Amino acid sequence: MKIPIEDISPAGLEIQFDESKNILGEALSGVSLPPDVVIDPKIRGHVTITKNMEEILISVVVEVNLTMKCSRCLCQFESSIPINLDLTARRKVGQDGEYETDSELDFNEVLIHDEEIDIGELIVQEISLDIPMKPLCKDDCLGLCPQCGGAIEPDGCSCPSGNSVDPRWNKLVTLKSRLNN
Ligand SMILES: [Zn+2]
Ligand SMILES: [Zn+2]
Repeated sequence: MKIPIEDISPAGLEIQFDESKNILGEALSGVSLPPDVVIDPKIRGHVTITKNMEEILISVVVEVNLTMKCSRCLCQFESSIPINLDLTARRKVGQDGEYETDSELDFNEVLIHDEEIDIGELIVQEISLDIPMKPLCKDDCLGLCPQCGGAIEPDGCSCPSGNSVDPRWNKLVTLKSRLNN
Protein backbone atom coordinates (compact mmCIF):
# COMPACT_ATOMS: atom_id res chain seq x y z
CA MET A 1 0.00 0.00 0.00
CA LYS A 2 1.73 3.14 -1.26
CA ILE A 3 0.80 6.67 -0.30
CA PRO A 4 1.98 9.53 -2.53
CA ILE A 5 3.51 12.31 -0.46
CA GLU A 6 1.50 14.89 -2.37
CA ASP A 7 -1.68 13.27 -1.00
CA ILE A 8 -0.71 14.23 2.54
CA SER A 9 -2.47 17.46 3.42
CA PRO A 10 -1.06 19.98 5.92
CA ALA A 11 -3.57 18.63 8.42
CA GLY A 12 -2.09 15.19 8.06
CA LEU A 13 -3.50 11.87 6.99
CA GLU A 14 -4.98 9.11 9.07
CA ILE A 15 -5.73 5.68 7.68
CA GLN A 16 -7.71 3.06 9.55
CA PHE A 17 -7.36 -0.64 8.90
CA ASP A 18 -10.18 -2.96 9.92
CA GLU A 19 -9.03 -6.27 8.41
CA SER A 20 -11.27 -5.81 5.39
CA LYS A 21 -8.57 -5.10 2.82
CA ASN A 22 -5.39 -6.77 1.69
CA ILE A 23 -2.82 -4.23 2.89
CA LEU A 24 0.38 -6.26 3.07
CA GLY A 25 0.05 -8.58 0.07
CA GLU A 26 2.29 -6.66 -2.28
CA ALA A 27 4.99 -6.09 0.35
CA LEU A 28 4.86 -9.72 1.49
CA SER A 29 5.62 -10.96 -2.01
CA GLY A 30 8.96 -9.12 -1.88
CA VAL A 31 10.26 -10.44 1.44
CA SER A 32 11.55 -13.85 2.46
CA LEU A 33 10.13 -15.05 5.74
CA PRO A 34 11.10 -18.12 7.75
CA PRO A 35 9.41 -21.28 6.47
CA ASP A 36 6.20 -22.18 8.32
CA VAL A 37 5.37 -18.52 8.86
CA VAL A 38 2.26 -17.25 7.11
CA ILE A 39 1.30 -13.62 7.57
CA ASP A 40 -2.27 -12.47 7.11
CA PRO A 41 -2.14 -9.51 4.69
CA LYS A 42 -5.21 -8.03 6.39
CA ILE A 43 -4.36 -5.98 9.46
CA ARG A 44 -6.11 -3.81 12.01
CA GLY A 45 -4.99 -0.53 13.51
CA HIS A 46 -4.11 2.83 12.10
CA VAL A 47 -1.38 4.86 10.48
CA THR A 48 -1.01 8.61 10.79
CA ILE A 49 1.25 10.67 8.58
CA THR A 50 1.96 14.33 9.24
CA LYS A 51 4.05 16.85 7.39
CA ASN A 52 5.94 19.15 9.68
CA MET A 53 7.98 21.69 7.72
CA GLU A 54 10.42 19.52 5.79
CA GLU A 55 9.86 16.45 7.92
CA ILE A 56 7.33 13.75 7.36
CA LEU A 57 6.40 11.81 10.50
CA ILE A 58 4.85 8.37 10.27
CA SER A 59 3.17 6.68 13.19
CA VAL A 60 2.11 3.06 12.79
CA VAL A 61 -0.01 1.29 15.39
CA VAL A 62 -1.26 -1.99 13.98
CA GLU A 63 -1.68 -5.62 14.89
CA VAL A 64 -0.74 -8.33 12.45
CA ASN A 65 -2.10 -11.89 12.56
CA LEU A 66 0.13 -14.72 11.54
CA THR A 67 0.47 -18.48 11.67
CA MET A 68 3.66 -20.05 12.97
CA LYS A 69 4.90 -23.54 13.78
CA CYS A 70 5.71 -24.30 17.40
CA SER A 71 9.36 -25.24 17.79
CA ARG A 72 8.55 -27.72 20.57
CA CYS A 73 5.35 -29.54 19.61
CA LEU A 74 5.47 -28.68 15.89
CA CYS A 75 1.82 -27.64 15.80
CA GLN A 76 0.64 -24.76 13.65
CA PHE A 77 -0.71 -21.97 15.78
CA GLU A 78 -2.11 -18.52 15.26
CA SER A 79 -0.62 -15.50 16.91
CA SER A 80 -0.58 -11.76 16.53
CA ILE A 81 2.26 -9.28 16.66
CA PRO A 82 1.69 -5.66 17.67
CA ILE A 83 3.63 -3.15 15.61
CA ASN A 84 4.32 0.31 17.02
CA LEU A 85 6.51 2.50 14.87
CA ASP A 86 7.36 6.17 15.00
CA LEU A 87 9.40 7.04 11.98
CA THR A 88 10.76 10.11 10.27
CA ALA A 89 10.68 9.88 6.51
CA ARG A 90 13.67 11.17 4.56
CA ARG A 91 13.38 11.88 0.90
CA LYS A 92 15.99 10.39 -1.30
CA VAL A 93 18.11 13.28 -2.51
CA GLY A 94 20.14 13.43 -5.75
CA GLN A 95 23.64 12.13 -6.22
CA ASP A 96 25.45 14.77 -4.19
CA GLY A 97 22.74 15.13 -1.61
CA GLU A 98 22.13 13.50 1.72
CA TYR A 99 20.25 10.30 2.37
CA GLU A 100 21.31 8.52 -0.73
CA THR A 101 21.23 5.07 0.85
CA ASP A 102 19.52 3.35 3.76
CA SER A 103 22.82 3.00 5.61
CA GLU A 104 22.97 6.74 6.27
CA LEU A 105 19.76 6.67 8.23
CA ASP A 106 19.10 6.45 11.95
CA PHE A 107 17.11 3.51 13.24
CA ASN A 108 13.89 5.51 13.31
CA GLU A 109 14.28 7.00 9.86
CA VAL A 110 13.14 5.63 6.55
CA LEU A 111 14.14 6.55 3.06
CA ILE A 112 11.39 7.42 0.63
CA HIS A 113 11.66 6.39 -2.97
CA ASP A 114 9.59 7.74 -5.81
CA GLU A 115 7.91 10.36 -3.61
CA GLU A 116 5.64 7.81 -1.98
CA ILE A 117 5.49 6.04 1.34
CA ASP A 118 5.08 2.29 1.20
CA ILE A 119 3.17 1.50 4.38
CA GLY A 120 3.00 -2.22 3.65
CA GLU A 121 6.76 -2.45 3.28
CA LEU A 122 7.38 -0.60 6.56
CA ILE A 123 5.08 -2.98 8.41
CA VAL A 124 6.42 -6.13 6.79
CA GLN A 125 10.02 -5.15 7.52
CA GLU A 126 9.15 -4.64 11.16
CA ILE A 127 7.29 -7.95 11.44
CA SER A 128 10.19 -9.84 9.92
CA LEU A 129 12.36 -8.49 12.78
CA ASP A 130 9.76 -9.44 15.38
CA ILE A 131 9.14 -13.05 14.38
CA PRO A 132 10.64 -15.21 17.14
CA MET A 133 13.51 -17.52 16.20
CA LYS A 134 11.88 -20.35 18.12
CA PRO A 135 8.15 -19.76 18.20
CA LEU A 136 6.18 -21.41 20.98
CA CYS A 137 2.44 -22.12 20.84
CA LYS A 138 2.50 -21.17 24.51
CA ASP A 139 5.32 -20.35 26.91
CA ASP A 140 5.11 -23.67 28.75
CA CYS A 141 4.39 -25.88 25.75
CA LEU A 142 5.19 -29.44 26.78
CA GLY A 143 6.42 -30.41 23.33
CA LEU A 144 6.52 -33.99 22.15
CA CYS A 145 6.27 -37.15 24.22
CA PRO A 146 9.72 -38.74 24.57
CA GLN A 147 8.15 -42.19 24.30
CA CYS A 148 5.75 -42.03 21.36
CA GLY A 149 6.80 -38.76 19.74
CA GLY A 150 3.26 -37.46 19.75
CA ALA A 151 2.26 -33.96 20.80
CA ILE A 152 1.38 -33.98 24.49
CA GLU A 153 -1.04 -31.07 24.15
CA PRO A 154 -3.87 -30.39 23.95
CA ASP A 155 -5.38 -33.90 24.01
CA GLY A 156 -2.49 -35.99 25.27
CA CYS A 157 -0.20 -38.27 23.30
CA SER A 158 -1.11 -41.72 22.07
CA CYS A 159 0.77 -43.72 24.70
CA PRO A 160 -1.33 -46.41 26.44
CA SER A 161 -3.16 -44.69 29.25
CA GLY A 162 -1.49 -46.81 31.94
CA ASN A 163 1.83 -45.61 30.66
CA SER A 164 1.17 -41.90 30.29
CA VAL A 165 1.73 -39.73 33.29
CA ASP A 166 0.83 -36.11 32.78
CA PRO A 167 4.24 -34.42 32.45
CA ARG A 168 2.94 -31.44 34.39
CA TRP A 169 2.73 -33.72 37.39
CA ASN A 170 6.18 -35.08 36.60
CA LYS A 171 7.55 -31.57 37.01
CA LEU A 172 5.88 -31.24 40.38
CA VAL A 173 7.12 -34.65 41.48
CA THR A 174 10.67 -33.66 40.52
CA LEU A 175 10.31 -30.36 42.34
CA LYS A 176 8.94 -32.06 45.42
CA SER A 177 11.79 -34.55 45.56
CA ARG A 178 14.28 -31.68 45.18
CA LEU A 179 12.68 -29.80 48.03
CA ASN A 180 12.75 -32.90 50.22
CA ASN A 181 16.46 -33.49 49.71
ZN1 LIG B 1 3.76 -26.13 21.17
ZN1 LIG C 1 3.49 -40.68 24.38
